Amino acid sequence: IDTGVSEELLAEGRRAYELDREHVFHSWQAQGPFKPMTIVKTEGSFVWDGEGRKLIDLSSQLVNTNIGHQHPKVVEAIQEQAAQICTIAPQHVNAARSEAARLIAERTPGDLNHIFFTNGGADAVEHAVRMARLHTGRQKVLSAYRSYHGGTQLAVNITGDPRRFDSDYSSEGVVHFMPAYTYRSYFGSETPEQETERALRHLEDMITLEGPRNIAALILESVPGTAGIYAPPPGYLEGVRELTAKYGIVYIADEVMAGFGRTGTWFAVENFNVTPDLMTFAKGVNSGYVPLGGVAISDAIFETFRDRVYQGGLTYSGHPLASAAAVATINAMEDEGMVANAQRLGRDIIGPRLQEMKAKHPSIGDVRGLGCFWAIELVKNAETKEPMAAYGGSSPEMNELVGAIKAAGVLPFANFNRIHVVPALNISDELLIQALDVIDEALTITDGYVTA
Ligand code: PMP
Repeated sequence: IDTGVSEELLAEGRRAYELDREHVFHSWQAQGPFKPMTIVKTEGSFVWDGEGRKLIDLSSQLVNTNIGHQHPKVVEAIQEQAAQICTIAPQHVNAARSEAARLIAERTPGDLNHIFFTNGGADAVEHAVRMARLHTGRQKVLSAYRSYHGGTQLAVNITGDPRRFDSDYSSEGVVHFMPAYTYRSYFGSETPEQETERALRHLEDMITLEGPRNIAALILESVPGTAGIYAPPPGYLEGVRELTAKYGIVYIADEVMAGFGRTGTWFAVENFNVTPDLMTFAKGVNSGYVPLGGVAISDAIFETFRDRVYQGGLTYSGHPLASAAAVATINAMEDEGMVANAQRLGRDIIGPRLQEMKAKHPSIGDVRGLGCFWAIELVKNAETKEPMAAYGGSSPEMNELVGAIKAAGVLPFANFNRIHVVPALNISDELLIQALDVIDEALTITDGYVTA
């Protein structure tokens, strides 16, 4: 194979693998059997594995590198910032952070004008909840099943997927509700309109039964990502906004994955014309080049802390390297029209092609998404919707499918019975089509496991 990478780089990769297995403790894994993939080089929409094989990155590294890898403008901005000021304590003003805050506040909807910076998504969620509790003087937090909000203690408790089971003993005050999810409706809905109406009725019941005067916040991914990119049916988020306003509950939109152009708008809430009270972000804010996250805060919640001390902070809040990367990322996205491009790719290429695949592959149960944020849900039986892998687990069928996609040169994001199509917003049409061809071809594998 034409590896395109030097023998030295490959040797370094082999050594890194040995050291990794000896000393690195990995996230979300049984450490023994785990066989991680080595990456020795990245560029644009490509990554090179430990054998020097070039793969199209359709995962964006946990839906993170919205502008692709090694964008020269961002790499240069980080280098320039490093030469000037690498780090400074958060109580001091730094130019990169001030500019990043301005660029973010100008793009967030409504009056989300104040930015609290964190190191990533989970701590943004932790701080948003704390702010909501202090603002309302209430304690409970409502969050959806089939959601992901982060791996720290409160964030993993709030998360509505099986990963919280090992650590939700401290989930005092966290109450889960059933989200609107038309394909596997908990309410027996047959249409999106029915699902919206029933899911909102359920939510209002939950609020009433839990006691509105005890509920500080409701947190919801605007388009749930890790849990399956199931965009809310028409009217659902508007309804959530109305209910939270009616009961004085702080509405936290978690846009850690869906934000910064992923859905074809700067923030996913714009697709549904709602403005939350708090909005968490991370990942796409600087394409993950340097760890950064944050909370965008409304004017009203900001007022709570005008004279009251906010008892919370992080040494790296608004870190200069991360902030400089955010400034360069947002400017590059703007200059290169990436948000509009994401919308076009979803509308003209990904959406139509996945629908076409659904018509032809019996193992595709559902196709959904928008912008550069899509998922296909694989089933053994279209009638019963029996998933190709159980919720929260893997299966030999899914492993075989993912193996074949990788062997054909595409790195997918796979979760349970789903393949997510989440490329960089600036992937070329040609590469995207090539990657979709690979998935199309590989799906004959799961078709073979369909029990009619
Ligand atoms: N919220 C959402 C919606 C996410 O997708 C994630 C990460 N996948 C997080 C929070 C947690 O972010 P982090 O891993 O940066 O802590």
